[in-house]
Amino acid sequence: MGETFRSVNSQLVGGRVSAIYHPYKELKHTWRSSDRGTTFKVSDYVRGSPEDVVESLAWFLICRARRKECPKGLSSRYLSHVRSPEFWEDHRSVYVKRARTLSFQPKGIAHDLAAAFEYVNSYYFNNSVPAPALAWARESPSRRMGFYHQPLGILAVNRALDSEQVPRYVLEFVVYHEMLHGVTEPVDGLNRRVFHTKEFRAREHGFARYDEAQKWLCRIVNSSKGNTRTTSIVPQA
Ligand SMILES: [Zn+2]
Repeated sequence: MGETFRSVNSQLVGGRVSAIYHPYKELKHTWRSSDRGTTFKVSDYVRGSPEDVVESLAWFLICRARRKECPKGLSSRYLSHVRSPEFWEDHRSVYVKRARTLSFQPKGIAHDLAAAFEYVNSYYFNNSVPAPALAWARESPSRRMGFYHQPLGILAVNRALDSEQVPRYVLEFVVYHEMLHGVTEPVDGLNRRVFHTKEFRAREHGFARYDEAQKWLCRIVNSSKGNTRTTSIVPQA
């Protein structure tokens, strides 16, 4: 991998680069630049991928690190590879093993994720969405209220919503938001994919108790921070 990164880098700007694999929980890559060059830490989910995928990833990452626009044709091989269900099927067991914050028991203390999913699927999606693996996620509500890992078929909701004090429709709203990610197309922005597009937001407003649910989510995020900020917070992808 290091050789591939050096070769791509020399075609771009030169300078020194190195790349090593790292067992991140999620598929993510980081880099650090100094006088001595740039070191990339590449998710080890990519290890064993075909050489043209690694080369495409090198273009994708080095362009990002150098703040250069990456020619679309050069990064697309990597992007389509890691967005495919086949790629994730191969890494499913590792992902689940590393996802220690996830509990795949849908029945929580106060709420049942499976019941929320079934209701939302029936009411808003005409039962058209295949049931994903449902999980409660133990993480800071200010980070995200839920996420939908589409290629893996995992829909997770923040454990902070599993409380008698939180109305069921708040949980249903987060489930609805995450399910919408499965039926709306993201668009490629300048530097990143935009998931919460105009179309997405319009459909999100179709939730019956949208305003009340949003207020609840703000309250939960604010109380988890221990202050009274009123920034509008929405669940993240
Ligand atoms: Zn989202």
